Amino acid sequence: MSLKIRLTIISTTIAGVIFTLASVIIYLLISAILIAQVDQKLQDTWEAVRLVMRVSSEGDLEAIREFAFESEVYFQAWGKDGELKGSSSNVNQLERPLSPDGINSAQPLFADVNIDGVAVRVLSVPLVVGERAIGTLQIGRSLKEVNRTREAMFEALVSTVLITTILTGYTGWLVIQRILRPLERAKDAAQQITQSNDLSRRIPQQGTRGDEVDQWVDAFNQNISRLEKLIETQRRFIADVGHELRTPLTVIKGNLGLMRRMKTYDEESITSISQEADRLTRLVGDLILLAQAEAGKLPMERQEVELDTVLLEVFRQLTVLAKESQTKFKLGEVDQALVCGDRDRLTQVLVNLISNGIKYTPSGGTVIVGLDKHEGFARLSIADNGPGIPAEDLPHIFERFFRAEKARQRSRDGKGYGLGLSIAYWIVVNHRGRIEVETTEGAGTTFTVWLPLKVGECLD
Ligand code: ADP
Repeated sequence: MSLKIRLTIISTTIAGVIFTLASVIIYLLISAILIAQVDQKLQDTWEAVRLVMRVSSEGDLEAIREFAFESEVYFQAWGKDGELKGSSSNVNQLERPLSPDGINSAQPLFADVNIDGVAVRVLSVPLVVGERAIGTLQIGRSLKEVNRTREAMFEALVSTVLITTILTGYTGWLVIQRILRPLERAKDAAQQITQSNDLSRRIPQQGTRGDEVDQWVDAFNQNISRLEKLIETQRRFIADVGHELRTPLTVIKGNLGLMRRMKTYDEESITSISQEADRLTRLVGDLILLAQAEAGKLPMERQEVELDTVLLEVFRQLTVLAKESQTKFKLGEVDQALVCGDRDRLTQVLVNLISNGIKYTPSGGTVIVGLDKHEGFARLSIADNGPGIPAEDLPHIFERFFRAEKARQRSRDGKGYGLGLSIAYWIVVNHRGRIEVETTEGAGTTFTVWLPLKVGECLD
């Protein structure tokens, strides 16, 4: 069942119940008022009768003959002995009390009775002389008029409830349709986007700005944007991986073809094939590592690591590389710092960052590494006075496969895939740390890695 129908049914039912309740209350209230009016008239008649009533010297009730009763008034005077002492002409054939219950009542009593098919309201009043009960007076009035009014009121209320409920249902349907129209248009637009598979489209804003439909449209559009970005990233990633795989595979295929044609075992071709196979192995390894790190599922030890020792080891390791590229490689201030983490992964972060510094700094340039502690963090810094990173490239350097055009040309080994910084970034994030970059074009770059210092045991 559609939302429109459901809402209409709910609102109509609620309106119907409210109207019915209100009508019942009105009916009961007016009925009570009408009965109260009859009771008042009975009281007035009793007051009038009392004035003309005569009681014999023995205290016996004598018939009341002088009183002229209105035609719709019924009257009976009963003696203590159960003898009818007098009655109005309209009930002079009746030999039983108007209200049997009222005969022996010690208090005035109102009762509804039926006399020969006519509904009558009867007031019974005990008659007492001194301390002696001498009989009962019963005065009745027909309820015909009251009942007719009640019936007319009942019919009027039932038809009012029916008409107002139907009208409420109809206007509710119109209003709900109007309210839901923007939502329906938004749904149609969303369906079109899904059917056309065109994620560049957005749902146009509907209705009033800031209302629930508008918020829903905003949220939907944001999700589409995220999806579009995600798919674009995936597409670029697949294209990049394909591109990076093709180069080594082409070299391997070319060398194999050459050896087949020459029908000789060529040492140079074998070396080239082996190098390209290494390159492929490294690429695949890096990709697996990145995928695991990005998903937060990188298998990582969590042990105490002396960062200063790691830094010194990497420094020794990369001194050879720096010498080859004629880069001045220096140690700055190195404090002792303990962190919790995976020693091999942290080594990889340092290798990636420092080798970048050496790689991108022209011959004669300087790379300085250092370590200190600051506000609960170990702070590793890798500073070079190389070309710096252009402002437009800066937001992208931690993306997979990103390589600045200039860097491609300057990089002297040509081996990079644009994965080094992404890997470093994710390893640091998995250690609950962060990487910052400060760079000035033409003056140099400083990468700073912040890692939380060890506090207590190294637990997960
Ligand atoms: P790769 O070094 O394989 O290209 P990285 O992910 O390590 O990939 O680096 C991404 C890009 O960031 C590099 O291509 C280069 O443009 C830039 N970059 C990184 N480190 C430096 C640096 N020290 N100086 C200048 N540019 C750098």
